[in-house]
Amino acid sequence: MNGFTASELNELRNQFPALHQSIYGKPLIYLDNAATTQKPQLVIDRITKYYTFENCNIHRGVHYLSQEATAAYEDVRAKVAGFIHAAKSEEVIFTRGTTESINLIASSFGKLLFETGDSVLITGMEHHSNLVPWQQLCKNHNGELLVAELDERGEVSMEQYGKLLEQKPKLVAITHISNALGTVNPIKEMIAMAHANDIPVLIDGAQSVAHMRIDVQELDCDFFVFSGHKMYGPMGVGVLYGKQKWLEQMPPWQFGGEMVDQVSLHETTFNQLPFKFEAGTPNVAGVLGLGAAIDFLQQTDLEKIGLHEMIILNYALEKLKSIPGIRIIGNAAERAGVISFVVEGTHPSDIGTLLDKMGVAVRTGHHCAQPVMTHFNVPGTVRASFAAYNSLAEADIFVEAVQKAVNMLC
Ligand code: PMP
Repeated sequence: MNGFTASELNELRNQFPALHQSIYGKPLIYLDNAATTQKPQLVIDRITKYYTFENCNIHRGVHYLSQEATAAYEDVRAKVAGFIHAAKSEEVIFTRGTTESINLIASSFGKLLFETGDSVLITGMEHHSNLVPWQQLCKNHNGELLVAELDERGEVSMEQYGKLLEQKPKLVAITHISNALGTVNPIKEMIAMAHANDIPVLIDGAQSVAHMRIDVQELDCDFFVFSGHKMYGPMGVGVLYGKQKWLEQMPPWQFGGEMVDQVSLHETTFNQLPFKFEAGTPNVAGVLGLGAAIDFLQQTDLEKIGLHEMIILNYALEKLKSIPGIRIIGNAAERAGVISFVVEGTHPSDIGTLLDKMGVAVRTGHHCAQPVMTHFNVPGTVRASFAAYNSLAEADIFVEAVQKAVNMLC
């Protein structure tokens, strides 16, 4: 199977109004997709339609609009469950995004299971959102944050991971794909190893869900979290998938709104799943936009998207490597469409600023993964990250722009 044909790619790009603009008189080359993807017209239209005709609070209305909005919102829950192959819609909780999903688990799962001295096991490549909540939870219980270190390629040492599991952490929390390096972790194997030690596993899927097919039952993960805005959907909405057996036992983390059953002045009983974890008025427009983003991904074919991105990644990597002084940060055998690099004698933000003036949008800095930067002994990197709509022609312009920036700075 190949990536997209030229006409398929053209058709795909035409669905994204933001791609058809010029920056400083140059056509925009958008390579900051790991931070957030652009939105296709059907996502924008779905949000506009909701606010134009359907706007209403959900779950509490007897009138037409409220019932329609409730049904549409719950339809998306079922759609998300199908998309990640959850056993039940009740296992899908809507949140504000990956960060909120992880904080919810850290707070609620922490209350359920953590005692003095308990630990969490993460890897050395985690985004701060999948690091700081566990670091704080461990600190609050006088426990230790266990870290499976990276090697020089940016891969986790599986031997050390296995050894750390023997210390019986209460939870393993690992990213599927590193946003800073592009490393794809062997999560199926890592989950099986943790389960062999009776340890539940959370997967941070922020960087994987828009690039490969996810089947939470096949993976057998206990939790899987992701954000709408990195998968062509809107900001401010995300998902927490959790196995029912955990979500049933976990206490609610925020109070008020639809998460209650009966309330008296001195007692409250809580609603059933999934509502127990959705306090207050939810982001209805965001959820509907997320549903449209899933439609987009399914229509476009996720496997083709993944292949297309790998073709661009390998093409751009090979070309970049021929630029003198360039150092690619992260060379994992299994990697996704992210290239992090530094250029000897230059600062990443100087390269990023020059690229911007040439219409090429990349991200520079530590990418919310400061321990990764420390591991590679760099202040930050320049990061280009690819999405379904990027092309080989854009990769050419990107590499030429890097070459020009290097010539100007060195
Ligand atoms: N984890 C990873 C791997 C990420 O790339 C990101 C976003 N850069 C997050 C977590 C946090 O996602 P959000 O800001 O959407 O909550």
